[in-house]
Amino acid sequence: MILKLLTLMLSLLLPLCWATDLPKSPTYIILVGPPGSGKGTLSEKIATESQLPVITTSQVLKRQLDANTAQAKQIKQKMAAGELISDDTILAVMKDEIAKPQYTNGAIFDGFPRTASQTQFFEDNDLTVQMVVVLNISDDEIVRRMQGRRVHGPSGRVYHVDNRPPVTPGVDDVTGELLEQRADDQPDIVRSRLTHYHSMTKPVISWANGETMSVNGIVQQVIELNADQDLEQIWASLCKKAPSQDAESIGCHAPAEVS
Ligand code: AMP
Repeated sequence: MILKLLTLMLSLLLPLCWATDLPKSPTYIILVGPPGSGKGTLSEKIATESQLPVITTSQVLKRQLDANTAQAKQIKQKMAAGELISDDTILAVMKDEIAKPQYTNGAIFDGFPRTASQTQFFEDNDLTVQMVVVLNISDDEIVRRMQGRRVHGPSGRVYHVDNRPPVTPGVDDVTGELLEQRADDQPDIVRSRLTHYHSMTKPVISWANGETMSVNGIVQQVIELNADQDLEQIWASLCKKAPSQDAESIGCHAPAEVS
């Protein structure tokens, strides 16, 4: 009798438990790729589709310059030379950034982590990364792209004179302000940034693939994409390759057809 009563109570209560909205764990996505591979453009697309905010490391660093913090001088020199900012500085700045309330539901990391030491951030802050998206593209194509790249400094909006031109040449579509060519987009600086990428950032991909001791399930999925395609093709490939639950959380709606 008691057993029957317990079974009845359980059968009534269990559906209620399933129906209760359990708090959703935050979604963290990392984009890895050489400078100019389209991390910024793809992160904007994921942000639009998923409503997740983007953390663009270079924008976070520029805010340090605007606020004239103690590290501002070092950051300015290194950024102009296309050199990486020290891991200690980046880790401190990113720790402050991720603590902000706008990242409660997660974030898309554009330009972080860039060194093996920076991957420590996820372990230290107990963050599980749903997806590391790796953008693959040749060095020669990068140099070609960077020569035509133009940016709107205040917002970080990125254009390309051939591939993504603004409505009016040389002018930001939203504000009408003048676009600039970044000092570190000059070919010789680009080549040096690519050298840094190959030596410093590729270990991040090894970390994501679980080839280092520390990963321990922090990264759930690594997705490699051919970045030498237009945005819609890259997005379709991402949606096709992402496991269905992740595809949903980044806002992939219809089944993708392009490989
Ligand atoms: P990006 O626009 O992502 O190519 O970054 C521009 C510059 O910001 C880089 O050349 C570095 O000087 C600096 N930077 C951005 N992200 C990082 C990072 N994760 N670690 C060190 N330096 C960074």
